[in-house]
Amino acid sequence: MPKESAGCSAPYPEAESVADFVRHLDEVRACIAAAAERVGRTGAEVRLLPVSKTVPEERIRLAVAAGCRTLGENKVQEAKREWRNLSELPLTWSVIGHLQTNKARDVAAFAGEFQALDSLRAAEALDRRLQAAGRGLDVYVQVNTSAEDSKYGLPPDELIGFLKKLPQYGALRVQGLMTLAVFTSDTERVRSCFRMLRGLRDQGRELGLVGPGGLSMGMSGDYGTAVEEGATVVRVGQALFGARSLPDRHFWPGVTTGERSAP
Ligand SMILES: *Cc1c(COP(=O)(O)O)cnc(C)c1O
Repeated sequence: MPKESAGCSAPYPEAESVADFVRHLDEVRACIAAAAERVGRTGAEVRLLPVSKTVPEERIRLAVAAGCRTLGENKVQEAKREWRNLSELPLTWSVIGHLQTNKARDVAAFAGEFQALDSLRAAEALDRRLQAAGRGLDVYVQVNTSAEDSKYGLPPDELIGFLKKLPQYGALRVQGLMTLAVFTSDTERVRSCFRMLRGLRDQGRELGLVGPGGLSMGMSGDYGTAVEEGATVVRVGQALFGARSLPDRHFWPGVTTGERSAP
């Protein structure tokens, strides 16, 4: 398989101005386009979702000034706080992390998209709140493609059965599947997680269970590989905003192998 181009991985300098953001967005889009072209796709097929978790509001404002209109947050509480505090900005929020059912009301109230659906309890809770609010919500079903590294996401062998039950929750509009790859700098192991998600999507598509069949996969350390394997959405934080000081295991309980970005 083709190698990652230079300049498309760590280090991740902090974006401190609108100009920095514009440059980082351009760089990441160029890397997406290069990865897409390596496999006969185009960059236009891939949506870049900037992830602003842990980023202070004044820097989120810079990202918006640079043109970002949807931001990803993995915690419902943080997303809700920013949605409130930045309500004057032209922004929608994508919740990309695990949902506790007691937060379903919040997600139904403010989220523009939910990418981490992984249980019928969450589906039920969300659907009920959404029906009450008279709205629908785009969702991605999260699959645990790296068994040992994350406790969130459906086991692959439970996915099809789960998808078959989703149509009863009429407010949820299934857009595709989402995953986090194994945390390692071994690109081939990362790639096999993305391939697994694509294979599951293909199976789901034959049965008409995954809507348009989107694939939300790839983060700062591995989005090039994800695009090569068919990603339609990449969720990128550090490569746009700058390196986070907190280790990845702070965000994904069960992650033990430390930072995944290759040096
Ligand atoms: C934080 C996060 C990302 C982005 O990770 P970066 O390393 O900042 O690019 C992507 N997906 C999920 C679910 C996340 O929590």
